[in-house]
Amino acid sequence: MKHNKLLYLMVAGIVLGIFSGWMYGSSMLAVEWIGEMFLDALKMLVVPLIISSMIVGIAGLGDVRKVGKTGLIALLYFMLTTCIAVGIGLVMVNIIEPGVAVEMTVEQVPDRVAGKEAVSITDILKTFVSPNLVQSMAKMEILPLIMFSLVFGGVLTTLGEPGKRAIDFFDTVNTAVMKIVHLLMYFAPIGVFALIASKLGAAGGGDLFLAELAKIGKYVGTVLSALLVHGFVVLPMILYITTRRNPVTYFKNVVAALTTAFSTASSSATLPVTIECAEENNRISRKSSLFVLPLAATVNMNGTALYESVAAMFIAQMMGIQLGFGEQMIIFVTATLAGIGAAGIPEAGLVTMVMVLQSVGLPLEGIGMLLSIDWFLDRCRTTINVWGDSIGAAVVDTLEENWVEKGE
Ligand code: ASP
Repeated sequence: MKHNKLLYLMVAGIVLGIFSGWMYGSSMLAVEWIGEMFLDALKMLVVPLIISSMIVGIAGLGDVRKVGKTGLIALLYFMLTTCIAVGIGLVMVNIIEPGVAVEMTVEQVPDRVAGKEAVSITDILKTFVSPNLVQSMAKMEILPLIMFSLVFGGVLTTLGEPGKRAIDFFDTVNTAVMKIVHLLMYFAPIGVFALIASKLGAAGGGDLFLAELAKIGKYVGTVLSALLVHGFVVLPMILYITTRRNPVTYFKNVVAALTTAFSTASSSATLPVTIECAEENNRISRKSSLFVLPLAATVNMNGTALYESVAAMFIAQMMGIQLGFGEQMIIFVTATLAGIGAAGIPEAGLVTMVMVLQSVGLPLEGIGMLLSIDWFLDRCRTTINVWGDSIGAAVVDTLEENWVEKGE
């Protein structure tokens, strides 16, 4: 399908989904199965895509020195953009003060985060390695798969001709999976429509949504405006300065990925579409997109990190707890780590928020106040996560070409 046509159909799918879920409420649950089928089809492709992408990406980069430099550029980009995002969140939440004069009406720690108190930096580090790859695949634990594939691909490049044959095999697997993604895109507009309509319907339709919004509308406004500043000012500027690409064209070319992110609330499930948009529409080199995007979908979460800093400050303001500069710096660091540590699945950010709140002694009960609207904010931050990932692919592609090639 021509991507302009797909772009319009995807946007129409989202708009129609919002309209139907808003107007017809829970009766839109009738289309839930369509959305689930689309989501499952995307998820089905994630494991073979990640393994083959990382192996082909690493092999495409060539020797270890290049991999190191490219990896370093990617990590610098991830860190820089995540820190800027958290900074924007903190500035906005201090200016708008959404939590002041909001009444705390929840007294219990929500089930979803209860018992998760022990999550620490070492726990996050431990998720990089898995004792059982098959189990990781079954549970869609992406990080250990990435780590294994990186090492595996790296080792294959040292094995001469037999290694090359194995790489060719994974290359073919990758091409085949991307063909399936291409086919799946024909169903994407109806898929995103069904996902949005049924989710909004399950949340009670427009009236209930507005009622929830009225309770903590200022908080929602703060998160959204900070996300908008980051997504539509900072990231496009970084894209333009480093690559000279036109941000508007670049944006149009990734609309399919952004709408998928908005409707699935999962960076991992969106990954196949993100890669498709990067390669097919934005002409990012295959080696860069295959190497950067799986990594980015898992560790680069600008929107999530930003959200966590705003949410933590909102809870403090709501409870009348004054946090000074030092404590806000702690939030800055932990929110950045929480963004890295959150999995690319729906509402993962809520769980890593425990770490942020505990670092400055804020009560976990506060999370209860955010639950009712989190499904919506999750979609918004996931969209910015995927937008940040997509721009990262372009930035790394350009800088890698300039820096690595010249450095030789
Ligand atoms: N749903 C987000 C993602 O997949 C993670 C989160 O913030 O909960 O990118």
